[in-house]
Amino acid sequence: MDRRNFIKNSIILSSGLGLSYCGSGTGQDKIKVVILGFDGVGWATVDPLIRKGKLPYLKKLRENSAWGDFKTIKPTKSNVVWTSIATGKTMLKHGIMDFSYLKKNGIKVPFTKSQRVEPALWQILSSYNKSSAVINWWVSHPPDKIKGVMLSDQFRRMAQNRVNRDALVKTVHPQSFYEKLEHLAQENKNYNKVISRTGLPDFFKIYNKTHPGKNAAKVPVLGIYKRLIKHDAMVESASRYLHENLDTDFFATYFRLPDITQHFITHFMDKEFKKKFKAAYKNGKMSPELEHEATEMVSELLLPIYSYMERVIKEYIESEKNKNTYFMIMSDHGFSFYDGGYNHYNLPDEMAAPDGIFLMHGPKVRNGKIPDVGVYDVAPTVLNIFDLPVGKNMDGKVLKSALKLNNRLRYKEYKMKKYGEGKINENFQKEDLEELKSIGYI
Ligand SMILES: [Zn+2]
Repeated sequence: MDRRNFIKNSIILSSGLGLSYCGSGTGQDKIKVVILGFDGVGWATVDPLIRKGKLPYLKKLRENSAWGDFKTIKPTKSNVVWTSIATGKTMLKHGIMDFSYLKKNGIKVPFTKSQRVEPALWQILSSYNKSSAVINWWVSHPPDKIKGVMLSDQFRRMAQNRVNRDALVKTVHPQSFYEKLEHLAQENKNYNKVISRTGLPDFFKIYNKTHPGKNAAKVPVLGIYKRLIKHDAMVESASRYLHENLDTDFFATYFRLPDITQHFITHFMDKEFKKKFKAAYKNGKMSPELEHEATEMVSELLLPIYSYMERVIKEYIESEKNKNTYFMIMSDHGFSFYDGGYNHYNLPDEMAAPDGIFLMHGPKVRNGKIPDVGVYDVAPTVLNIFDLPVGKNMDGKVLKSALKLNNRLRYKEYKMKKYGEGKINENFQKEDLEELKSIGYI
């Protein structure tokens, strides 16, 4: 940082958060980027609903966006992939490794954030004095000390009961901002209230009704559905609050629900069909038609989750605040059927990692399908939109053909500075492990 910026920064920081609250007249014409991340969404399950007219906003949005199959990587695990999205780099470069890889090599999980050895987008932007609001990104605890506000991926635990307040305060940067968010906990602590407020399905109850003699609490992932749904509701509330009350250059938030739901969704498929489907795999008689039918069935079951996603997307895109804003909507991966079930990892080697979705919408976006877009391309493209140099050793490319911006391509080496510090709370660590075990990550 040069001296002039340093002085400017000090003045801004001393006056509070280093960013302006709404209405302070920062102007609507400055370029902004908003990332909305949804885990586990694939076009394979979205498309049937679009075709049936059940996701009208998403349909319209795709027609008015540059979009594509979001090429992902193996190992297709969310911590690895979302870190690649934020850094533009491979797992081996950014240092956030696959959990099973760590386990195999006798390394203790979870990892601390200090293992990320490459700067994330918001850190690079911060070094250019650009402000960010970052909410719930994978492997982001403790939060980075950026210009702006960051809620780590442990902040969501505010929706749980009996969580230590001091520990929660440390999920927020700057910690003084915590107080402004505390009131949001109330509307998200009660599962039944969250279900009725969000309109999300009560899969827990449905399972117990449709599976007499069985207990939803014992089904992997579904067993912790109540907690996870409150987490996403908490993220939704906090994201809305930050979006409405701050005016940052960059905004990124992440929702986990589409992935979580798909980890147990096959329990809700028609039982007779499932028998037939399983038998086809067993007897080597699986046909593309039968697989297609299964995907359509899952797609239909996911409608309430995707409708929720659609509402979130609409809220941000239609906001009066986002005049000169570039939206990137993405998912780290989709899901595939294979003879072991329905998943995004542990797939047979010969099967490709299932692509996620990608949409870019904004004033100078060239609408239409992008033939080649992948998880490494987000970071370089965001930097180019801000007319900043792309990281020299980033593994992706600027999505030039999808932009009419004509910002010059420049490169620079960005080094990781020590931003985050502090210890990981032991209870958080325990709960993280429980959740990761439930989804089969470790
Ligand atoms: Zn998953």
